[in-house]
Amino acid sequence: MNTVVTISGGGIIGNYISSRLNANNISTLVIEKNSDVLDLAENVRTVTLNQYSKNLIEKLGVSIPCSEINEILVFDGEGSGKINFHSKDIDEENLSYVFFFNDLYRALQEKAKQRTIFGNQIEDIKENIDGQICEVLLTNKDKINSSFVAGCDGRNSNIAKLARLNINVSDYDQTAVTFTTRSNLQNNKKAFQIFSERGIFAAMPVPKNKEDATHTIVWSIENNKLDNMKNIDSYVNENISYFEKKLNIEFEICSNLLTFKLTNHYFENYISDSTVLIGDAAHSIHPLAGQGINLGFSDADVFCDELIKGFENSRKLNRKLILTRYEVRRKQMNLLMLRSMDFFVELFRSKNLMVHLARNIGLSGVNKMKFLKTFFINHASGKNKL
Ligand SMILES: Cc1cc2nc3c(=O)[nH]c(=O)nc-3n(C[C@H](O)[C@H](O)[C@H](O)COP(=O)(O)OP(=O)(O)OC[C@H]3O[C@@H](n4cnc5c(N)ncnc54)[C@H](O)[C@@H]3O)c2cc1C
Repeated sequence: MNTVVTISGGGIIGNYISSRLNANNISTLVIEKNSDVLDLAENVRTVTLNQYSKNLIEKLGVSIPCSEINEILVFDGEGSGKINFHSKDIDEENLSYVFFFNDLYRALQEKAKQRTIFGNQIEDIKENIDGQICEVLLTNKDKINSSFVAGCDGRNSNIAKLARLNINVSDYDQTAVTFTTRSNLQNNKKAFQIFSERGIFAAMPVPKNKEDATHTIVWSIENNKLDNMKNIDSYVNENISYFEKKLNIEFEICSNLLTFKLTNHYFENYISDSTVLIGDAAHSIHPLAGQGINLGFSDADVFCDELIKGFENSRKLNRKLILTRYEVRRKQMNLLMLRSMDFFVELFRSKNLMVHLARNIGLSGVNKMKFLKTFFINHASGKNKL
């Protein structure tokens, strides 16, 4: 078999890349370790896309139900600090959009299904001497000749291991729990986030196709707080009233609770010979700002853009140039976002009185400074790009 790009991982990012390149007449094959039987579990987990990422999927003809957020209120649970971000601050109708993970996954898998080999993995990559084509060996012993191997296989990327790239990992010692709720709040374009000793609690409007719920909750809790609890349900049931009081909203839980251990990682280099890491394969961050998949979409967009330009501008592909340009355009931006998330996690973890005071003044101060608020919102919405 021959293809321009072999993609390891048919998740949201791998399938997006396959579909975008296919629309530009560049051949791809997706190798997905799971079978094509979709997990039809209940819609609980959500992802928040910024306008930039939403535009990317819409250009591929993907249109699925979502909810809109036009205002985000951020509180310091233990103090008086408060900041609000409104889409009007950046002259947009909305700040971001909430989708069910499963809906987005299914819609993109449908687009790339015909080019996917399910139930298989890449076992080895052999670089040819000409430095332009490599041989990809699958676990079923099939071989693919390819110019690029894109690792879109998430955390614990198999491609990163085969390419022997250096990884940096850190553990937040936190667990994220996510579930959907019904509430008594009428205006459902507002999202809330509270930083407190009981955890980082975010409530967002639920996508419109879940009629029995109003909010989706992502709540990151320190592991040491959970140690003495019989299970996470007890912690959630005993502590949710704290956030209800703070927000003056009643939340009735109406789904299973899903949990995720929180770590971050990044690679010092994203590329090596024919291989390139994209999305969660290259980096993962704390979910507090809902930016993980937006970074993945920006990576995917830049990789496709460089590859399409490479095809347009020359008859012979310059593999090294394409990959280097991708890495330069993405690595620093991703690292900046990872460091910013870590800064917030550490800031709100601190028990130091001066830090408490500084962060209250900081939140309220930023709230009054229009240019700083606009800067933050433009970053989160994907408007500030390289
Ligand atoms: C609690 C929580 C909440 C989150 N909320 C948000 C949010 O609101 N907004 C946001 O932007 N992001 C959010 N994220 C992050 C977001 O979910 C991820 O960034 C995103 O799913 C990464 O997509 P991906 O396609 O890069 O990787 P993945 O979703 O991990 O997909 C990888 C794919 O590769 C396949 N695979 C794995 N290994 C192999 C192999 N060896 N061979 C072949 N295939 C393989 C897998 O089966 C899978 O299909 C959240 C994360 C968590 C944990």
